[in-house]
Amino acid sequence: MKITDIETIILRLPHVRPNGDGLQDVLIIRVHTDSGITGIGEAHTSPQVLKAIIDAPVSQLSVQGFKQLLVGRDPRDIDALWDLMYDHSTTYGRRGVVIHAISGIDIALWDILGKAKGVPVHELLGGARRTTIPAYASDLSPATPGLAVGMARRAIDSGFQAVKFGWGGLGTDIDGDAETAAEIRRAVGPDIDIMIDMGVPVAYGDALRLARRLAESNVFFLEEPLSPDDLEGFSRLVGESPTPIATGEKETTRFGFQALMEHGDLRIIQPDVARAGGLTEMRRIAALADQAGARIIPHCWATDILVSATLHFLVTRQDAPYQEFNVADNPLRTRLLREPLVPRDGLMRVPDGPGLGIELNEETLAAYRWNPPA
Ligand code: MG
Repeated sequence: MKITDIETIILRLPHVRPNGDGLQDVLIIRVHTDSGITGIGEAHTSPQVLKAIIDAPVSQLSVQGFKQLLVGRDPRDIDALWDLMYDHSTTYGRRGVVIHAISGIDIALWDILGKAKGVPVHELLGGARRTTIPAYASDLSPATPGLAVGMARRAIDSGFQAVKFGWGGLGTDIDGDAETAAEIRRAVGPDIDIMIDMGVPVAYGDALRLARRLAESNVFFLEEPLSPDDLEGFSRLVGESPTPIATGEKETTRFGFQALMEHGDLRIIQPDVARAGGLTEMRRIAALADQAGARIIPHCWATDILVSATLHFLVTRQDAPYQEFNVADNPLRTRLLREPLVPRDGLMRVPDGPGLGIELNEETLAAYRWNPPA
């Protein structure tokens, strides 16, 4: 089997705002083969930049676009192709958007391998230990505590046992944020997990003060309160905070996560399969996390392609506390697949068809397809 083309499709909502919603646009990747099998992937980053990285011609040995590297190769040689992409992009890659591009292609390669063998991806990753993962309802933080309480109540009423609020101005009023968490706790009772996601870093003193106050509401974790590069700050905060600290959605590769755990002392890491290096790199990150005694609760705020890839990864894990589930009403999530992935009673079921077990809805692709201005 040989790769014949890597197709890149940009989808974009009609009105994109610079807020914390990471699913206003997306790059869908289809890896085509001469056997008729097509792999589906997604990378979570700026789709136009990503498309350029895939389509770029060779510049020199260590600066190469990925389509020309991969066409003609056997898509089943996943480890070799991962290394091929990494090794031929080391001058402009190694982190950030180039790894996002590798992630999206890697997900599509696993989909191809599963389809070629007629088995779900989780079987290729070592076998499912379970068929469902508890989902937490994840939403942007609304303007008022009252709205947050209402959103939390709705999530609980529809079966979720955990809720997360993030971005949306969190961090500008530390006492207000703590009070919002307290109001949510009073509304949902003691048995629901509550997570708070700052999104935008705050000063160390504010992060610690908030973490101390959130402990009064028994918050499950405080996410991303510091700069992704402030490993020394994270190390201090993990040591001083009574609330568990989580981060990692902006990190890539086993090297980045090793540093987060070794120098940042993180014990909850949140790699995103569509950014961190795909399923191939997730396995390596998972091995490091297991060795370090860290938990993995993946970041997942993109389309159902990523939801599926993340579920296939999580069901193979011994420790799989939560799947993030974006509850915002967004057609790029709710209508991208012919059979959208939805939680039942707060549980997400891993698709059991070959590969990722998903099929794209061509009508949605056509409706939100973005083309460069002529
Ligand atoms: Mg986050």
